[in-house]
Amino acid sequence: MESRTMPTRLPESRTTTLLRGRSRPRRCGERERLEMGWAIALHGGAGDIPYSLPPERRAPREAALRHCLAVGVAALKASRSPLDVVELVVRELENCPHFNAGRGSVLTTSGTVEMEACIMDGNTKKCGAVSGLSTVVNAISLARLVMEKTPHIYLAFDGAEAFAREQGVATVDANHFITPENVERLKQAKEANRVQIDYTQPVKEEKPQEEASSGKGDSQIGTVGCVAVDGSGNLAAATSTGGLVNKMVGRIGDTPIIGAGTFANSFCAVSATGKGESIMRATVARDVAALMEYKGLSLKEAAAYVVNNVPKGNVGLVAVSANGEVIMPFNTTGMFRACATEDGCSEIGIWPSETDCVLPDPKRSC
Ligand code: ASP
Repeated sequence: MESRTMPTRLPESRTTTLLRGRSRPRRCGERERLEMGWAIALHGGAGDIPYSLPPERRAPREAALRHCLAVGVAALKASRSPLDVVELVVRELENCPHFNAGRGSVLTTSGTVEMEACIMDGNTKKCGAVSGLSTVVNAISLARLVMEKTPHIYLAFDGAEAFAREQGVATVDANHFITPENVERLKQAKEANRVQIDYTQPVKEEKPQEEASSGKGDSQIGTVGCVAVDGSGNLAAATSTGGLVNKMVGRIGDTPIIGAGTFANSFCAVSATGKGESIMRATVARDVAALMEYKGLSLKEAAAYVVNNVPKGNVGLVAVSANGEVIMPFNTTGMFRACATEDGCSEIGIWPSETDCVLPDPKRSC
């Protein structure tokens, strides 16, 4: 069955695309494979990132993105599997206090940390997820252990912490994650009566609970994620987060939910960021893959359709396809992001890019 029906709503989201494969008509569910080489994309969160972000806040995050991208590229060049690569990169991002994962995790309404993460292998569709971690240094590696060492997919809270002890992964006192910056973020969120997708300056007027940042904010940090594809089309995705500032104790977001914040199959790998409740309602990551598989859309078309159907200001994602296409769309003010491909394209960005890269001809450089 031929199925190239385009979505009724055309792409409006801000996007960065490295489209390297030549398209040809495909049958429903058929995967296009163009042997385009490896590709990688990563994010450090989407949100209300003001254009006025001071250099002292911007520079360390850009440096971290650059460093983590280099780590991922080196691993791909060394022929590490995409699964290894996304875990490695997300560990680096977790260890960086500038992002909302691992060391930089934001706090619950009780001032505690509840980290969550998910990893997925596209070929096998094996996946692992964790929630409610308060002592594990690298949640993403525990998620991988859940995938590889248990008959289950998802462990949370006490059971996940006990599993971490059993596996001997690095743990620290929970206070390690309760940084002065995150205490201040929580204080400001409480003053403003907000549950935030990231750090937002308090606004004086009363806002209902569960409201995302509004455009007046000073977002600085965010969930982290990475997607990668190797030269043979093997795909993997990983996402890790501290969740929302001032979230209820026990709240689980999109990040560890397979198909919401994280998904990979033989078509694409997706890692999302933004307001978890909106991302879960839209099954963002799975919908991107499903539009490719069932509707024959390109990664760019599928991701644009999905992002544009989530309320504005609520979502961003990074994704790669089996044929090496890279896409980083968002409908928020900005998204900390970076990508690179084997043929030499590389980009680091925060806000919509004037040099958004669309390369229908793989021979063109960006
Ligand atoms: N999606 C995350 C959550 O809702 C937050 C983020 O992406 O910054 O837990």
